[in-house]
Amino acid sequence: MKQFHNFINSEFVATAKTFENRNPATNEVVGQVHEAGQREVDAAVAAGRAALKGEWGRMSVVKRSELLHAVADEINRRFDDFLAAELADTGKPRSLASHIDIPRGAANFKVFADIVKNVPTESFQMTTPDGGTAISYGVRTPLGVVGVICPWNLPLLLMTWKVGPALACGNTVIVKPSEETPATATLLGEVMNAVGVPKGVYQVLHGFGPGSAGEFITKHPGVNGITFTGETRTGEAIMAAAAKGVRPVSFELGGKNAGIVFADADFDKAIAGITRSAFENCGQVCLGTERVYVQRPIFEKFVAALKEKAEGLKIGGPDMPGVGIGPLISAEHKAKVLSYYAKAKAEGATIVTGGGTPTMDGEYAHGHFVQPTIWTGLPESASVIREEIFGPCCHIAPFDTEEEAVALANATDYGLATTVWTQDLGKAHRMAAAIEVGLCWINSWFLRDLRTAFGGAKASGIGREGGVHSLEFYTELRNVMVKL
Ligand code: NAD
Repeated sequence: MKQFHNFINSEFVATAKTFENRNPATNEVVGQVHEAGQREVDAAVAAGRAALKGEWGRMSVVKRSELLHAVADEINRRFDDFLAAELADTGKPRSLASHIDIPRGAANFKVFADIVKNVPTESFQMTTPDGGTAISYGVRTPLGVVGVICPWNLPLLLMTWKVGPALACGNTVIVKPSEETPATATLLGEVMNAVGVPKGVYQVLHGFGPGSAGEFITKHPGVNGITFTGETRTGEAIMAAAAKGVRPVSFELGGKNAGIVFADADFDKAIAGITRSAFENCGQVCLGTERVYVQRPIFEKFVAALKEKAEGLKIGGPDMPGVGIGPLISAEHKAKVLSYYAKAKAEGATIVTGGGTPTMDGEYAHGHFVQPTIWTGLPESASVIREEIFGPCCHIAPFDTEEEAVALANATDYGLATTVWTQDLGKAHRMAAAIEVGLCWINSWFLRDLRTAFGGAKASGIGREGGVHSLEFYTELRNVMVKL
């Protein structure tokens, strides 16, 4: 059976305590994950601190950048291994993982390696009170040992989104992958060794949150900052842990994103866009739209068209021909999503399509599949409109005016993303200005330029990563003032 070891100081380390890793499409056990305890966390922190003082700490930016390019190239060379690992962990369609997860996982190293090489810092010259001159300039230094706490929905992509810039900036990282998806982070350890990344620079510790590796890493005084993607509630616990020693955090948290479709939208493109934003990755995307608002003149037509799209999505495992939607990540998450399906029914929703589990046979008979689901007719106070479900489902409600659409979109504690569909340029820009989010897509969804800022407003996050914004978190900007 496959063993997922911790990766500490360039070595794969077994522990006595293990837990099972299952394939969500088949519910079969894939391997055993070795859980890290306080001892392993202490060892990783010590190795991370030593690396900052060693070869890695002395390495030139150019050399570091070359090494990170080599990491990306090695991921691409081992593309099939990464793909197989991600598919076994998540059960998502092969086409999705091969077009998004793995290529982006590699790209995250290249983009930040280039940014770090090319972004200047500020410098000023001034006249001093005694009539002399002084110049000041900024120097970026690494934050130190960075704790990287990851979710399960886009395991390699979201992990490298943080590890790429952290390493580019000269930090060392201790990654805690989700307990549901340990594989690609572990495999990346092999890549780091193959290309010669020094010991202690990239480390992986497996386990859970409270009372396990997650808590031990975030509470460790030798960890200088924590970058986290996951649920808002977990973010609160991590923020409390980071308060000790006032250590900085960067948070990418939950969402309850609105999709807004105006009557003047290109109808087919809007339907295609909302189909993706509601159902891609089985709805397990933080940027997904679980609330859809459609302008009244096209409401009925839109509901009917989205229903047809949802019903056309073939449910199944990664390699089923034409598969459009895979399983949820775990039995536990399936139970959570189905509890919302039951709540929607109890609260009086009209179930346009779905609402239950599909009948699967063969190897997928015990996979964690649910039907893509659409509701209408609920009041805005309904649980499925207020709370993040993280499943392949959405509620569609009509609206009349632009002002009403803005008010509906903003009536949530979250503020991660929105997707707006209209052909009226002025309206598009007004919506972008008025909706309280970190990311606003116009006539698109999940289209990313990695040089741009990514993050959430309100309860959806703290700080921004992406492009030069990542440098703000992963470095300390030191100002040097020189009196001439
Ligand atoms: P989660 O918060 O349950 O877990 C995320 C990670 O935190 C896991 O590795 C987990 O082991 C760890 N963890 C849990 N409790 C901890 C604690 N007390 N201390 C330290 N670590 C702890 O999230 P999830 O279920 O893995 O992911 C889904 C969530 O992530 C959704 O809410 C989704 O919206 C959010 N998400 C946000 C973004 C974004 O960019 N904003 C991206 C992807 C996912």
